[in-house]
Formats: sequence, structure tokens, C-alpha cells
Amino acid sequence: MQPFAYTAADDVQAATRLAVADRHARYLAGGTTLVDLMKLDVETPTQLIDITRLPLAEIVAQADGGLRIGALVRNADLAHNEAVRARFPVLSQALLAGASGQVRNMATTAGNLLQRTRCSYFRDRATPCNKRQPGSGCAAIDGYNRMHAVLGTSASCIATHPSDMAVALIALDARVRILGSAGERVIPLAELHRLPGDHPERENTLEPGELITAVEVPPLSFASRSLYVKVRDRASFAFALASAAVALDVDGGRVRDARIALGGVGTKPWRAPEAEDVLRGRPATVDSYRAAADAALAGAMPRVHNGFKIELARRTLVRAFLRLEAR
Ligand code: SF4
Repeated sequence: MQPFAYTAADDVQAATRLAVADRHARYLAGGTTLVDLMKLDVETPTQLIDITRLPLAEIVAQADGGLRIGALVRNADLAHNEAVRARFPVLSQALLAGASGQVRNMATTAGNLLQRTRCSYFRDRATPCNKRQPGSGCAAIDGYNRMHAVLGTSASCIATHPSDMAVALIALDARVRILGSAGERVIPLAELHRLPGDHPERENTLEPGELITAVEVPPLSFASRSLYVKVRDRASFAFALASAAVALDVDGGRVRDARIALGGVGTKPWRAPEAEDVLRGRPATVDSYRAAADAALAGAMPRVHNGFKIELARRTLVRAFLRLEAR
């Protein structure tokens, strides 16, 4: 591990000032990704700005039915929050499907959104990786790519975004509140993560020094009828092979509205608006769910070892709808 300076920030503005002044600084919250990557010399910050004392750990239920989730709310606290469980079960379920109990006790909301890929080549400095070292190549494209993405990939990178929580949040149209030297701004979560394109090292749209302060979940009349299904190699502490976050509004046997997002298959948390369009107005039947799943995976591009994910993701999505219907 490289030497680094450590600074504990006392307030939000001071934290962002420190980060703006040092382009190679990193914010430290739960540390569940960053510290691992520092031990591997994949992340080599000059300074860690400890933000764990900042007052950003509250979950506030809004009067309109939405939620405001502080950036430092621990994943376990968010998963077990009464308002989350009652109003947005898909979010609670996605959080509980992620990592392990110990990790969820440490990991934070913003850290979860910004966690880096688990591509094994990214974590191995002996192999080429455009994300870790721009221009060096991608060892995964012609290497072992069973866990890699089939949606949103490029000729430079096919790494999967690992978050479960972000998949649920993107299905719920969450927004991200951000503070930086230019002041505060709010963006849709769908605009936070970038596709890899020619620059997989640029993973998000944050400006240097910007700090996520909160995630806002807007009210959605049918969010209480939502569900998360995750398929993985073992029952705990494993990343998704495929996952689906769904919410469904059915009226008189027909789908009035739907929300669909996929995990484990995309280079970013993957919302599927074309699949939602397919479902609207159709009978709430397995055939309609299959048609939506076909639409969601229509643009998938398999590699040598991960082609199975396309059918697995289709079936995971259909299963999510059938489970939701059964409830
Ligand atoms: Fe690196 Fe992306 Fe290729 Fe993995 S898939 S080796 S993260 S460039």
C-alpha cells in the first residue's frame, strides 16, 4: 500500500474544499471498496478525507411519500428502515441481497453507488485493464468473462457494475444530491454512471471534489408492489449473475404501469424503459412478461463465457413479475 495522508473532515464544505484542492484525494466512508483496492495498489490516493463524522446519516420520510436518504446511511440501516420496508420493498430486498451482514453494517449509501467493479483483471495489476490503466487493453474481452456484462459494453471494457442497491434505486427513479465547489445540484441517478465507451476509467459524472450528500426517492403510487430477485452462484456474499428490480401497477388484469431494472448484466445499473413500454396496456400474463424480458435483453452482446446471462436475465425478470403477482 502506498503512503497517504489522512484528514478527518468536520463539515461538508470543508470536505469538498479539501477534495477540490487535491485531485488525488478520495473520500473515505465505509471503506469497503476503497481500502481493499488500496491494499492491492489499484487505488493509490495521496489523501483520505474521512467523511464519517459528517451529518449525512439520516433517513427522512417525506410528506409526499418519498424518502431522503443521507449519503452516509449504512446499508443495513437502510434495509431495515420501516418506511423503506413498507413503501419501497424492492430497495430493502436489494440491499439485503448484497454482500454480507458485516459489509452491510459498514457500507454506506453513496459508497454503494460509487463502488468499483469486481472484474478480477481490474484488481490484478499484472494484467492489462483500460479502467485501471487507460490504453493498456482489456484482459477480459478475450479472457475469462463469465461474470462480465452483456449490456452497455464497449470495445474497451465489459465490466459489470456490482451494486444491487443501485438497481432498485434506478427502477424507482431516484435522484442524487451532489455538493461541489460550484454549489449544489441534483441529477437523476440514471445520469450518475457512465457507459464505458472509449474511457472506462471515467465511471461517473461527478466533477473533481464533488460529494454525494443524499439520495432522494420520489413517491411512486405502486412502489409498495415492488420486488427484487437476484440469481448468484451461492446464497450469500456473491455478486449477481443476473438480477431484476420490478414494480407493477395492474388494473383490471392489465398492466397500467411498470418499472424494470436489471443487475449483473450491465456496465451500469440498467434501467429497461423499452421493456416497460412493452408491458404498459398488456394483460398481466406470463406471455407479456416474456415479451418485456425479450425487449430488455434485445441489445445484449455475449462474449465467450457469459452468453448464458442473456437467458438467465430474461428468466430472472419473468420470475420477478410472477413472484410479485403471487403476492
Ligand atoms: Fe479492465 Fe474493464 Fe477489461 Fe475488466 S472489463 S479488464 S475492468 S477494461
